[in-house]
Amino acid sequence: MNSMNKSMISLEGSAVSSLELVLKYLHMTGEIVWYYENPKLKNIIFHRPDTLVEMLRAIFRHDFDKHVVYNETYGKLASLTSKKFEMMKEDFLTKGLMMLEMLHYCLLHFQLSVEARDMFIDLMLKFDLCYEVPKFAGAPSTFASSRVLKFPWFLSTEEPKSLGAEWPEKIPADIIEISFKLQFPTSTPPNFFEKTSARLQNHILQREDWKNGVLGYRNRTKILVCRESVDSGTDVNVAVRGSDLQEIWYLITSCHTDMMVLLQEWPFVHYEQYLVCTHCRFTGVEEPYLYPAEILQHVCPRKVYRLQCCPDYKDATIPACLVYPLDPDFQDDIGEHIKTVKEFLQSLEDTVDSGRAAPLTDFGLSYVAARLGVEWTLVTLSLGLTQPEIEQIQLDNPYQVVKQITMALIRWRDRQRISQSEDRLLRELFEALLEQGRRDLVEDIQMKYGIDEGLFILV
Ligand SMILES: [Zn+2]
Repeated sequence: MNSMNKSMISLEGSAVSSLELVLKYLHMTGEIVWYYENPKLKNIIFHRPDTLVEMLRAIFRHDFDKHVVYNETYGKLASLTSKKFEMMKEDFLTKGLMMLEMLHYCLLHFQLSVEARDMFIDLMLKFDLCYEVPKFAGAPSTFASSRVLKFPWFLSTEEPKSLGAEWPEKIPADIIEISFKLQFPTSTPPNFFEKTSARLQNHILQREDWKNGVLGYRNRTKILVCRESVDSGTDVNVAVRGSDLQEIWYLITSCHTDMMVLLQEWPFVHYEQYLVCTHCRFTGVEEPYLYPAEILQHVCPRKVYRLQCCPDYKDATIPACLVYPLDPDFQDDIGEHIKTVKEFLQSLEDTVDSGRAAPLTDFGLSYVAARLGVEWTLVTLSLGLTQPEIEQIQLDNPYQVVKQITMALIRWRDRQRISQSEDRLLRELFEALLEQGRRDLVEDIQMKYGIDEGLFILV
């Protein structure tokens, strides 16, 4: 503090750095709270730290159930009837959902202006203490509210019953899984898991939460983040499953980056991080090989498609794109990666009883897409897509031709599947490919998926 005092006297340099020094000083003396080391909070300064703490306490209280009860005068001020109040309280205590009206009620005695209350909400959002959610059918009280916040701290313990179906233990056929873990051997930083969970909201479109986990969805890709007690410490496991390699990597690297940024808040915490070997996961090895997760900060080397597998399986190979991240936005050789992964999944099918993959799965169609060339628009037109539909798909996925083709094929499949059998669909696809002179691709699909040629007499 002494050196700080001295430097205060001889303030020089830019106004910004002078201001920074003054703020640091005020922070150290406890006059203000300013998180100058945290990139996200750097621009926020709390002038009355005590009140802020009191306000947070009003919400994060362990005896919320007992303490926060209905009072008619307050109810009127917060425009809450006792019935609405009870419904919202229940949603908060069981689902972690806080309606704006309920928040208003809890903070009434602070006599905040509307602006101050909004600012407080912004702070909680920036702090990753909560995230904003849309109104949804599962919680009718959300429709009685103008704004809904979710606090991952207030969640019931149990896993949702649907988890087993949504995320089966065994990886389904033609689905790719990539996972990493953070291990905290002694103590986990307080609220690390909840904050990670809150940040995940930026990357997913739908979610299901419970006390020790989140299952999130982004388009056709799923992410599972779980907290697990191990010996005296805690593991946080992150796994992503899907068929779109770039989207899988988007979720893995975004979640990993969020965690690394959050951990800066606890500079002395001890942790280890690992990327789980995908080959080991697929073959069902009990203790998969663990790569250092620092790999996640690198991108897949150019023109490298296959690597020697992990030291536990030196004779096997693994697609490079299942170890090194792909660029989520632009990967010009994505087709080559898809082909390599297809061969890898196929090689595992002989050794693992994972159920036979079909060419019409999402990944199967992305394999077809990876092997199609400029003739793809003609193929999808003859499958019944319209020119405007194709143009829209191109606009939605700029510079990602393989993804455009995959999306077009998925759209055709989903539309026809309602009324037609898989065999009929496959025949339609084969005919469209033959029309464009792609007998080679038809034969390749028949061979790769072990389709009896007799089933499809091709002329
Ligand atoms: Zn392995």
